[in-house]
Order: sequence, then C-alpha cells, then structure tokens
Amino acid sequence: MTDCLFCKIIAGDIPSSKVYEDEQIYVFKDIYPKAEVHILVVPKIHIKSLDELNGEHQDLIAKMTLKLPELARSQGLDTGFRTIINTGPGGGQEVDHLHMHILGGKNLPGFK
Ligand code: AMP
Ligand code: ZN
Repeated sequence: MTDCLFCKIIAGDIPSSKVYEDEQIYVFKDIYPKAEVHILVVPKIHIKSLDELNGEHQDLIAKMTLKLPELARSQGLDTGFRTIINTGPGGGQEVDHLHMHILGGKNLPGFK
C-alpha cells in the first residue's frame, strides 16, 4: 500500500521517532502528542482498521495487545496508561492503517 502514511513510516520512507520494532509490529512517537507520552503501535502489514480484522489476525492482535504494558513502562508510565483505537470516520480515525495509541504522563486530557 504505497499511499499509506504508516506503511511509508514502517518502510523508512518517511522519518519517525522509533520506540520499538519486531517482526510484526512497529512503534513510534506520535508527531502531535496529546500527552507527555503518546506513542503509536502499528502492525507491519497493512490493515485498514479494526473493522477489517478476521480470524487470521488473532495472533497478531494478541501480540500487539500483550506488548502494550511493556511499551508503556518503557516510556516511564509506571502507574498506568490509556489505550485508544479509533475506527473509521465515525470513530475519529484519521490514518487508515490500524494503530493503537498509548498515552500517559503529564497533560493526559480528560476523557469525559
Ligand atoms: P487517528 O486519529 O486515530 O487515526 O490517529 C492518527 C495519529 O497519527 C494522530 O494522533 C496523528 O498525530 C498521528 N500522525 C499523523 N502523522 C504522523 C507522522 N508523520 N508521524 C507520527 N504520527 C503521525
Ligand atoms: Zn498501511
């Protein structure tokens, strides 16, 4: 998917501030952080959103989810963190490549 921003970031064609990478996922700092810590966890394969998941993605999604606490701790979020997944225009998704937001630290906005 050459016109996908996050695919370009994963490929290294667009620079990013990398936090972590393995065979399946790529993690980098959000360019417009909404809190002191704001990172994005993305699968390396192009999946548009939660709406496009199927049974073949079970292992990938489990691995991404299980990695979240470790990634949060690696950013100094020892007392907890917030996870957000926006899905589709109605859910406020702006980049059409599935991503999990991890937010925390100072300036974490209210959620009510
Ligand atoms: P969403 O609204 O859930 O699709 O979130 C997309 C996120 O991607 C937003 O928080 C943006 O700030 C972030 N973003 C957009 N472009 C870049 C980029 N080039 N590098 C890092 N984060 C980005
Ligand atoms: Zn993509």
